[in-house]
Amino acid sequence: MFLAELEGAGISGFGSDLRKQIRELVQTGSLAGLEKLRAQYPAGLLDVLRLPGIGAKKVKALFEELGVSSIPELKTACKAHRVASLKGFGAKTEAKLLGSIEVLEGYLGKLRLDIATEMADELIDTWSAQLPEAQFLTAGGLRRSSEVIDELVLIGVSEDPDVLLATVIKQPLWLTELAREQHSVKAMTPYGASFRLVAVPPESTATTLLFETGSDASVHALQERASTQGAALTAAGFAHPKQQSPAVDEQTIYNALELSYVEPERREAELAPLSTPPRLLSLADIRGVLHCHSTYSDGIHSLAELAAAAKTRGYAYLGVTDHSKSAGYAGGLKEDAIKRQHEEIDRLNETLAPFRIFKGIESDILADGSLDYSESVLATFDFVIASVHGQLNLDGKKMTERIVRALENPYTTILGHLSGRLLLRREGYPLDIPTVLEVAAREGVAVELNANPSRLELDWRWHQRAIDLGIRIPVCPDAHSVDQFDYLRYGVAIARKGGLTPADVPCAWEVDKLEAFFQSRRRKS
Ligand SMILES: [Zn+2]
Ligand SMILES: [Zn+2]
Repeated sequence: MFLAELEGAGISGFGSDLRKQIRELVQTGSLAGLEKLRAQYPAGLLDVLRLPGIGAKKVKALFEELGVSSIPELKTACKAHRVASLKGFGAKTEAKLLGSIEVLEGYLGKLRLDIATEMADELIDTWSAQLPEAQFLTAGGLRRSSEVIDELVLIGVSEDPDVLLATVIKQPLWLTELAREQHSVKAMTPYGASFRLVAVPPESTATTLLFETGSDASVHALQERASTQGAALTAAGFAHPKQQSPAVDEQTIYNALELSYVEPERREAELAPLSTPPRLLSLADIRGVLHCHSTYSDGIHSLAELAAAAKTRGYAYLGVTDHSKSAGYAGGLKEDAIKRQHEEIDRLNETLAPFRIFKGIESDILADGSLDYSESVLATFDFVIASVHGQLNLDGKKMTERIVRALENPYTTILGHLSGRLLLRREGYPLDIPTVLEVAAREGVAVELNANPSRLELDWRWHQRAIDLGIRIPVCPDAHSVDQFDYLRYGVAIARKGGLTPADVPCAWEVDKLEAFFQSRRRKS
């Protein structure tokens, strides 16, 4: 059926070669050409190919000349300086490769926030079905919404913790049990990350949750404070001279120690302030979707589909920002396509009102810091996200100058994904972040918190500095499909971690206030 359709319809992009291979794959279940290559080259070469700055030709040379077929073998060869002497490599390349391998090793055994969240969701669903009377809670870095997690920790609460431990850990199969202790089980997840399930009776839930959530520094600070008040705080329980009944939740413990409650995301180092903490942003505060890609560039849903989906989800507006013309690889928009898109937006805005589509663009920041449209074209947009997508290998000084120049462009409204980092895949390019933030503040440019779980920057560690400077931080899904609107979940988690409130985040604002913000940037010029 599928094959007949493929043959008959002449779907664009499927040439005769590709059609032949699809037919072979469907009919035989394998590809002879691929199997031949697999027999010839070890699978570890694909890992080597993933290192930055190394292409197929170099990988082939390493394999054929030095017998290198995996990353550990390449590391040994680099350390013995056998790579430097190879034609086309040299000492500089060798040092760079070794550096990349060390970065990669630093990523091993870690999980991105979204992967850890999905794993935890699946475990909790599976185990809750097995033991309906038990309760399962997340803890550790996942509960603190760390962008990268070293160990996935869950707590199982049950009247009979031993039965809980004996029952649940056998499934799902992707969890490999490593060690069993009296009240916990250690296991390994895919990607080699550690997992721990701690089983407790209901009366220890609050203290266990507090201790297992961490961070170590924040727990330690609480314990110190408890001891100065003659109280005892351990994972097993909390005893305070002024409080007779057991702590029912974490809030009770903070309050007994005369502290304001600290949200889990904020428990990195500081102790709870005594004043009322700000109300952190929540997912329900988000009023619109800024930064998404439609079929005009590399998105998979049409403008009308994106708008309908945003409206259905209860959002009041959508800021569409397709790629700009330099992004040829992503179908960036030429001037005539912009005109067509704007006409379509005008039509949709008439039928969807009061829902509003803002005309945006994600304009490439070229190597010299200019944006890739003329002023007359830039002036047709409601807002412009300026992002670096190419030429990532400039040094820190040049990259900072490049971004500063883009911030000084009067049409730039928002700076996109600040350093280009891809978590557990690629470090960001070097950048003088304090200078960039100062210029953004001076120019009135917002700095995006890109909610794609690979990016999650502006890094939360810079949020307070940015807010102190008066910078606005929109949480943007950078969605290339409707389902990627859900990335907002991770963006909001990081915004909370950084201490952002709805007032700091333009996509949590009413449409009129947002529009005035877009326009104020223009008036400055
Ligand atoms: Zn981008
Ligand atoms: Zn984008």
